[in-house]
Amino acid sequence: MSPSIHRLYRPNFTKDFEAKKQLPTPSHRHAAPSAPWPWIDIHDELDAEQLHSEKPPVPELCDHTTCEGCWKGYPQSRFPNWTKEQVERSKIADAVADYDKDRPCIIHHVDVNTSGFFTNASHVTANDADVEDTWNIIISEKRPKDNRVRALFLENLSGPVLQMLGAK
Ligand SMILES: [Zn+2]
Repeated sequence: MSPSIHRLYRPNFTKDFEAKKQLPTPSHRHAAPSAPWPWIDIHDELDAEQLHSEKPPVPELCDHTTCEGCWKGYPQSRFPNWTKEQVERSKIADAVADYDKDRPCIIHHVDVNTSGFFTNASHVTANDADVEDTWNIIISEKRPKDNRVRALFLENLSGPVLQMLGAK
């Protein structure tokens, strides 16, 4: 019996792994956080310039008064050590670019106060044509006094809303 065509063209993972093992491994490669997820593999090539950067891995929180919408650069605006490849591998790049622009994203929220009572249930409708309005609502929203937790529930999560909530 002859081998099937699938067997002939099966990738050789062992060979790829052996080739990748040749890369030198810096001793401090896991020192910097790569939040929100560590989308880096042990044999990924590293950016030498980024590795030797003196900048903090996670910058100071933005107060959004002069940034003119730092959400547009998320996740790198919050996590500059994320490379373009990592953003693609994590599927954030796809989520940001490829979503249904005709369906509004609805951000439902409910607060739980320090006495354990659910309060302040409401929602924000984020239409793709009104991203600036949505951003202004997100950054100007104040939590009630004595609030312990705000839970968000996202309906039809869009790329911009993912970025805004990440950058907030
Ligand atoms: Zn900002």
